[in-house]
Amino acid sequence: MTKTRLKTDAATSLRMQRIKTVKTEPERRVEQILRRESISFRRNLRLLPGSPDFVLVDRGVAVFVDGCFWHGCPRCFAGTRRNRSWWAAKIESNRQRDKRVNARLRRRGYRVLHLWEHYSDRQMEDRLMKVISSSH
Ligand SMILES: [Zn+2]
Repeated sequence: MTKTRLKTDAATSLRMQRIKTVKTEPERRVEQILRRESISFRRNLRLLPGSPDFVLVDRGVAVFVDGCFWHGCPRCFAGTRRNRSWWAAKIESNRQRDKRVNARLRRRGYRVLHLWEHYSDRQMEDRLMKVISSSH
C-alpha cells in the first residue's frame, strides 16, 4: 500500500469517514453473526481502500455495511426524496466511489461484499456464508 493511495482515500472520503467511525446497529448485527459462526475478522482496517467495515483476513473478503441513505439503496430511497437533483448527484458520487474502492480491493486480491443496512439478520448471514463458502 502506497502513501499516495492512502492520501487519496482520505481526501475523497472525509464525509464518509466521519460517519463510519460510529459503530452502527447493522454493523453490530454483522459482528454477532461472524462471532456466532466463529469467523475471525478485523474491523475498520484503515490501511485498505475504503476502510472496510469488516475484513475476513484469512479468507480474503472485505465487507461493507452500506447505509441505505448514503449509498442510495434502491429499495429504501428510490425517488422518494425532496431536492432530488442534489441528492441524485450526491448519491451518484458515493456510488462511483464505491466502485473505485471495490476495484482497488479486488486488485489486491480481496473479494468484496456489500450488505445493505436494511437486510434482515438472515439476509446478511446468507450473503456472508455464500461469499465465505466460495473461498479459495
Ligand atoms: Zn435499504
